[in-house]
Formats: sequence, C-alpha cells, structure tokens
Amino acid sequence: MSKVAIVKCRSYNEDDIENSLNIAFDLLSEDSQESILKRIVFENSTVLLKPNMLGGYSPEEGVNTHPNVIKVVAKLVKEAGGNAIIGDSPSFAIKGIEQVWEKSGFKNVADSLGIDIINFEKDGLMEVDVPQSTFFEKLFIAKQAFHADIIINLPKLKTHTNTILTGAIKNLLGLVPGFLKAEFHRRAHRPSQFGVALSEILSVIKPSLNIMDAIVGMEGNGPTAGKLRIINLLLVSTDPVALDAVFANLVWLNPLDIPTIYAAYQKNLGEADLKNIEIVGIPLNKIRLSNFILPKQSLLTLLPSPIVKILANLIRIRPLILEDKCSKCKLCITGCPVKAISWEKEKININYNLCIECFCCHEFCPNRAIKLKETFSTFIYFKILGLMSRIRKLWA
Ligand code: SF4
Ligand code: SF4
Repeated sequence: MSKVAIVKCRSYNEDDIENSLNIAFDLLSEDSQESILKRIVFENSTVLLKPNMLGGYSPEEGVNTHPNVIKVVAKLVKEAGGNAIIGDSPSFAIKGIEQVWEKSGFKNVADSLGIDIINFEKDGLMEVDVPQSTFFEKLFIAKQAFHADIIINLPKLKTHTNTILTGAIKNLLGLVPGFLKAEFHRRAHRPSQFGVALSEILSVIKPSLNIMDAIVGMEGNGPTAGKLRIINLLLVSTDPVALDAVFANLVWLNPLDIPTIYAAYQKNLGEADLKNIEIVGIPLNKIRLSNFILPKQSLLTLLPSPIVKILANLIRIRPLILEDKCSKCKLCITGCPVKAISWEKEKININYNLCIECFCCHEFCPNRAIKLKETFSTFIYFKILGLMSRIRKLWA
C-alpha cells in the first residue's frame, strides 16, 4: 500500500521546514527505527534534487519550489551521508540559466551549502527506450538523472492550464532539457494525451522520494499567472502518483480526472485509488481546501471527450496578448510548439487557425502578458459548471 505523509508547516523558516520534514520522514519510516530519508540515502550517494524551477521568479512570487525547502532537504541529505546536487531545466531562461538561479534564490542555496547546480542543457543527455510507449519510443533525458544514485523530486502545489494540477508527475518534465519539451506539446496536445506523454517519463525515471512544497500554493490560472494561496502543508511520499492523487483530493477533485494521474495509474506506475493509499499525519478530511480555484481550461478537461467534441466550436479558450504588458521579448514566438505566434507589423500576432491551445505561451511569458480569454458561450457555460460544482460539494 502506498503511503503519503501530510504535515503542517507554518512558514518558510528553515527550522519550521526541518521540523515538519523530520516528522513526515518518521511517519513514513514503516517498522524501521530509521526515517525514510535515512533508509533511502546511503553513505556517499549522489542525490539529485529536482525542484520546480520554472523560471526567473523570486521566492515571493510562489512559482518555483521555495529555495528554503531545497536548502533544508539538501542539509538533511548531507546529514544522512549523501551529497546533494540541484538540477532542473527551466522552460525558458531568457537571460541565461544563471539569471534563473540568481533570481529564484537557488544559487544562494547552492553557494551557502557548497553544492553544485547542474545545467542540464550543458551537462548532456542520455537516450532511453520507453517501455510500451504511446508517444515516444525513445526519450532524451538529462544525464544526471541516471548518473545520480537517488532522485528527490520537489514539486510545488499549483494548478496548471493544461493538466489542471501540476505536481510530482508533471515536475519530471524538467528532466527533458530545453526545447525538447516542446515536442511533448506538439505530439500530445490534448490534456489526456499530454498526461500519457508525461507518464512516459515516469516509466523510465522513478524518484525515490517526492516532497511537495504546499506551504504557499497556487490556484487559478497556474502555473505562473495564478493566485497564491497559503496552505501551510508539506506532502511527502515515495510514490509520486499517490502524492498527486492526495493533492487532487485535497482540492476536491477525483484523482482520475487529472490526466497525468490517470495515465500513470493506467500504466501501473503508482497508486491513485485513495482506498489503497494510507495517509499518515493529518487526515485529509480535516484540511480539504474550500473554494480552490481551478484554471479556466480545466473545466473543459473535466468533461467527457465526446461532449467536448460536440461543444468544441462553442467552448473555446484562447491566448490573447495584452499589448500594454508585452515587452516584445519574442520568447513566445520561440516557444510556441506549432509556430502559431509571429512578429508582424511591430507586434506579436497569434494565428488561431494553427494554435492548439496548449497554453505554453501563457506559462512562460515573463511579463504575464498573455491572458486566457473565453468566448461568451464559454463564459456562460463555466458559470453553469461552477454552480453545479458548488452543489456537488454541498452533497459531499
Ligand atoms: S507576449 Fe510575453 S513572451 Fe510574448 S513577446 Fe510579449 S512579453 Fe514576450
Ligand atoms: S499560441 Fe500559445 S496556446 Fe497556441 S499553440 Fe502556441 S503556445 Fe500553445
């Protein structure tokens, strides 16, 4: 049976994080006297810490995993005998990855502990075969993911315009360096397909431990432009699928409605049935988050696909450029997986005939200059769905 520990953590103060994590590690220790971390980390092992390093955002913006969570985990790894390194591949590092490390506070963490941050782009890739593949027979993954003895996955609790939630499974996309990520959107642009493609990464790389930063999470149109929500929790598990399933339930969603969880569960990569997940620490029913705001697009994802097909032309959400916020950095042009964005007449233009509504541009625009705009019929439809969801919660 998979186990997920849920513990309170009242702030990003290092002592608070350390106390909470030690409680969670003990809760997951099974019958052994040793905490789960000490059982996983062995003497002189190399431990790759894989945070959510989405881009050059400060810790206060709540987009990346908070640097103090990484710092405390690295410290505890050292105490357990291991050598931590930090690595991720942000989708877009406009002014270079060093600028992302600086702004996110990750460089400070590495410098203060004397540990390395790995630039996956420069460090090299490994080609791996994907068993029972649907989208990728082979994947190119950061070399360090295979060279390290242990991977500790450090996702952040956030919503996501494509996959509804971004958690432990989705965080592994950062192991695919640079623009190779765009291929995921190109080949698997529907959320259900994208979930399957992401599960293919999990089928070749399984983190030994997953620690979700849910001290301050993000709701609404995440993973960059949503609203911050103080949650004061840390979630820990050796099973990334179970961890995400608990996160889904925490925000009143059926885990199997989340494309990443559904796909990974179908491939037997982890547990998503809450009946088979033991929750230790705080019981879920005491901490479910009321009125958690989902991304607009997710309401379409939650519908059965035959209905979506029928309503496809009525219910549309499109990226829209906010001219007054756009710095004309042209990053969205480079990053759009289907080349639907171009530079015309001194401004950014989106060709909606080509757009596959993956919302990558919304995710990586550094100025939050891309808005998700629904048609009028979609607006009405969402109002009805919102009402239905409130009624459902009253019954639950
Ligand atoms: S919309 Fe955003 S990413 Fe695109 S050019 Fe403007 S600021 Fe840059
Ligand atoms: S325009 Fe934006 S939403 Fe449309 S395909 Fe390109 S990146 Fe995706």
